[in-house]
Parts: sequence; structure tokens; C-alpha cells
Amino acid sequence: MLALAGYPLGLEFVFLDPAAEACASPLGAHLHADYVDQAALTTFVQQIDVATYEFENVPVLAADFVAARIPLRPAPKALTAGQDRLGEKQLFQQLGIPVPRYAPANSLAELQQAAEHTGLPAVLKTRRMGYDGKGQARLRGAADFDEAWRALGAQALILEAFVPFEREVSCLGVRALDGSVAFYPLVENVHRDGILRTSRPRANDPLQAEAERHLRRLMEHLDYVGVLAFEFFVVDGQLLANEIAPRVHNSGHWTIEGAETSQFENHLRAITGLPLGSTRLRGASLMLNFIGELPPLRHLAAIENLHVHQYGKTPKPLRKVGHATLTAPSTVALDAAIPPLQAALAAYL
Ligand code: AMP
Repeated sequence: MLALAGYPLGLEFVFLDPAAEACASPLGAHLHADYVDQAALTTFVQQIDVATYEFENVPVLAADFVAARIPLRPAPKALTAGQDRLGEKQLFQQLGIPVPRYAPANSLAELQQAAEHTGLPAVLKTRRMGYDGKGQARLRGAADFDEAWRALGAQALILEAFVPFEREVSCLGVRALDGSVAFYPLVENVHRDGILRTSRPRANDPLQAEAERHLRRLMEHLDYVGVLAFEFFVVDGQLLANEIAPRVHNSGHWTIEGAETSQFENHLRAITGLPLGSTRLRGASLMLNFIGELPPLRHLAAIENLHVHQYGKTPKPLRKVGHATLTAPSTVALDAAIPPLQAALAAYL
């Protein structure tokens, strides 16, 4: 999606992806190699003027190698900040951004102590490499500790209080090379089994200014360049920080049709030193993720104002294989279009 946004700007792309069937490969040269393969990284940096990443678990070692040779935006310290859930929470606190109660849990004894601090229910998570709800276990009572520890143990863990949230929202910000910033309207997100299902931008959300304040503070602290996504829980009408992603984000895919400038174009503008584009809404929109399998294209194409994106990925349970964005001229028109859409796609959502 970055490349698709970049070609109209005259940009060209080289991708380094360890997957043999990288979904970006039809759109540019694909270096099929491990992230830490130094020969491949050397070829990579020789072919490009500026590098970026759109996966937060790229090893910092690989990012450092690239950043020592050509501009890498955002800089490796943004990757470091997002890769360890414990360090991430500590950084939020240092910047005055509220977080749920949490504590490290590196042994079963420490887990029991951590639960005294967080209270129950709580969510036990791996500190590293977790995504789409992977590496998480819910603790409802003391009887769950042993099993959760066995399932996730043998690695560094963090216990977080379970947040009885009213809503989950994310805010996408973009910071240019000259330090100027822009923010998209707050997005309401619905997850199931830890996986994002729908995202809907909300004009004039009462929490917009608070979210922008947190995002601005973080982007300035990291001297960030590019798009940054910040996910929050809303509890008692206040934001509690969940996590950040130092990249374009699934909860911003609606911007392709729903905003004046998509998150992908704005990320490219930022990292290539161009001025940022407007983040204004172009109407109302709702993004739906397709998980595991894509509905037949013929079926999707028959739905009015639905914009389909398939990723060319092999269908697999719990894999995001595509998304679609429904657009409407107003919130009222969107509200009216959602129930028939959900009925038409009931077998796939
Ligand atoms: P994460 O990978 O941490 O963003 O977790 C994926 C999803 O699981 C979140 O978007 C929430 O829906 C849910 N979740 C994670 N942590 C918590 C928590 N501490 N309290 C309540 N729900 C949570």
C-alpha cells in the first residue's frame, strides 16, 4: 500500500522481506533474505536513497545497519521503543501519558506479586513479538496462573490490569522532516480475539485534543519522522495508553478513500522530506478487515461505495488477507449503509 501510494509521486521501491511470497513483490524489486543478512542489507542500501519499515518487529540490529549507511526514517530508536511492552509503558509514564496498572512477571512467583499490584482480571502478555492477540492470556482467578505461565513462560512477560474499556480508539499522527505535524481524526476500533475487525474515523471526537497531545509528545521525544499509530483504551471518558506502532497502521487503512491524503502518502511525504498533505476527512467511512479468507470479489464488487483491497496473501486462519472501506457522504448515510453491508458479508466477518 506504501508503494501503491508512492508511484503517482514518482517514487520507486525495493523491498527486503524474508517471506518468499512477499505481497509487495509485484510492485518492485524483492530482496528475499533474512532481516539480518548483511550481504542483502548491503545490496538494499546501495539501491535506495531512503529506507523505512512497516513491520515493528524488524530487528533493531538490521535497522542500525541501514541507518549507519543511509537515512532510515523513522530512526531505529522508534523501533526499540515499540518492541518491548515494558519499556514502552515506562516511556509513556515518563512522558506523563496515563497507562493501565502493570508489572513485570519473569517467574511464577513474580507473576503472583504482579497480580497483587494489578488486581484481577488481568492480561498476561509476552514483552516481545506479540501481535494480533498472539502471546496473550487472560487471568481471571488464581487458578489460571499455572496454565498461563506454562503457555507463555520461558520468556519475559508483563501483566496488565484488564481494562473495562468503553471504546478502543487510535490516533494516527505524522511528523515531517522539518518537525511539522498533522493528525488524522480519532479512529474507533473493534477487536475480536485480539485482532482488529473494524475501524471508523470520528470527526470531532471529544478526546481528539488529548490524543494529539500524547502523540505529539511522543513524536517529539523520539524525533520521529513518518506516520505513528497510538492505540488507547477509553475508560471513564479518559484515554489510557495501550501501545504504539512506529509505522503505517491497519486502523489507518480507511485514509486511502476517507481522507484527503492517505496515511501511506503522508508517510512517504514525511520520509522523503516533502510537505505533509491534508489529513481532513472526505466524508464518513468504515473499514472492515477480512480475516482468514476473502469474500468472492464478484460479491464485494456488487456493493455500492465499497472499496476493496486484497493483499495477494494465501488464505490462512486468523491471517489478514484484505480489507474493504465503505464510504458515504455523511455519518447518517454511513449508519444507514452499515447494516445491509454486514448482512451481505455476514458469512465472512
Ligand atoms: P494488544 O496487542 O496489546 O493491542 O492487544 C490486542 C487487543 O486485546 C486490544 O486491542 C484489546 O482489545 C485487548 N486487550 C489487550 N490488553 C488489554 C487490557 N489490558 N485490557 C483489556 N483488553 C485488552
